Amino acid sequence: MGRSSGCHYIDGAFVASESAEQVDVLEKATGAVMGTAAVGGAHEVDRAVAAAERSRHEWAAAPYTARAAVLRAAAAGIEGRSAELIDVIVRETGAIAAKAEYEVWAGASYLYQAAELAARTGGEILPSAMPGKMNLVRRMPLGTVGIITPWNFPVVLGVYTLAPALAVGNAVVLKPAPDTPISGGQLLAEILDDAGVPAGVFNVVTGEGDAVGEPLVTHADVAMIHFTGSTAVGRRINMLAAEQLKRVSLEMGGNNALLVLDDADPEHAAMIGAFAAFNYQGQTCITAGRHIVMSSVADAYTESLVRRAAGIPVGDPTDPNVGMGPIINQRQLERAVSLLGSATTEGASVLQGGTHEGLFMAPTVLGGVSADNTAFREELFAPIAPITVVDTEEEALELVNRTDYGLVNSIVTGDPMRGLALAERVHSGMVHVNDVTTLVEPNVPFGGIGLSGLGRPTGGSANLEHFTERQWISVARQPVEYPW
Ligand code: NAP
Repeated sequence: MGRSSGCHYIDGAFVASESAEQVDVLEKATGAVMGTAAVGGAHEVDRAVAAAERSRHEWAAAPYTARAAVLRAAAAGIEGRSAELIDVIVRETGAIAAKAEYEVWAGASYLYQAAELAARTGGEILPSAMPGKMNLVRRMPLGTVGIITPWNFPVVLGVYTLAPALAVGNAVVLKPAPDTPISGGQLLAEILDDAGVPAGVFNVVTGEGDAVGEPLVTHADVAMIHFTGSTAVGRRINMLAAEQLKRVSLEMGGNNALLVLDDADPEHAAMIGAFAAFNYQGQTCITAGRHIVMSSVADAYTESLVRRAAGIPVGDPTDPNVGMGPIINQRQLERAVSLLGSATTEGASVLQGGTHEGLFMAPTVLGGVSADNTAFREELFAPIAPITVVDTEEEALELVNRTDYGLVNSIVTGDPMRGLALAERVHSGMVHVNDVTTLVEPNVPFGGIGLSGLGRPTGGSANLEHFTERQWISVARQPVEYPW
């Protein structure tokens, strides 16, 4: 089935909203209209969930090879349409091609891995204390899983949950972010549809968080919500879902540190710091938003980071020479400018950048950032690298852990074993030694703790636990005798 712009994908068909309402989708660097999206509401959510509920039993009961074949075909669909996907991601998210290429590679990888997962949903046979009894513990799918995604990695963050959820026999209703309904919804629906997903097993409803997201979260037939986005919205979703004692998994914000130890090569550390801070304009949950640097290497690190920031060409990411595109929208830009204003008022100095033209923000380095500065305490979600200088390793570690978030941190050191020892004392779901914070590997569980994550990690070996329930089935070989 070909693309018809601005549709939901419900019960195997591309359909308009009951209201017929459409909204323009903008190319972020130019403001040009690149398509439209359907504006959905509770009616579309109801239809999608009903379709999912109707179709999920047959999907779960199908041979695992049938589910795996659909997922493999979808992976091949992503690869086959990679040029188109990259073009849409670049224009719709304002990212450079390298980030879009990563999304396509990772998207296909998640689908191939999910195809393998379909074969691994077996359980255990356990002994019984009663004679003639057999205990089976099997994995069963949850039912209909609602997936809510943000705009920063629309393909990856959709696929990394929808693929394993489908693999183990769930049905899915996906709500992408309104900034990215084409790459995050429409194209994924087309690819799954072309791959032969049965009608109703996978659905996409586009629209706003309050109009589509909340009805999905509160729908009585939705067994689980997997949400990726801000901590504020995650908290609200958790409260709404608690009413129904619904399983939720929340992948939320981060305030991640890059810790540069005194034995690190400052040039190399600054290369890591620049990429971790400015990759995709700093708009990733795993961006390094705090650069905690030991005093003996601080001057050299700062000089190098400033030089690297100044050298990043900012502009329209369809230009292959550009290294950083626009901030996603006016609201996010205003938030970044406001945070920057607070940071300088509270004593930080702008060492590089600090300006913006339209949505294009210069890579910014802040010096003299104390631990009580807004730039240290808040998730910035912008191309801003605040540097905080410390004298001792213990002070550095205390500052790394001085946040309620707990997504990822990195340690740069000349001694990997020193890094490993420190990593074990860092309070976050992920820690990397001698690399950027912005790492994702499709075969490795990914997730945060504290304000960054609730529920189980997703990805790799964690997916089976994430998207299934255990069911105990006991079988008595003979009728069991009881006293009355
Ligand atoms: P967001 O504002 O929380 O939105 C995320 C998604 O939730 C969007 O589809 C949004 O739709 C929807 N939503 C909003 N309110 C809702 C509600 N009441 N009920 C149900 N759904 C609702 O986040 P964002 O600005 O798109 O993304 C940036 C944030 O995501 C950052 O904090 C970043 O750290 C985090 N993030 C985390 C991870 C991770 O893996 N930990 C990965 C990527 C991003 P609307 O846009 O229509 O409101």
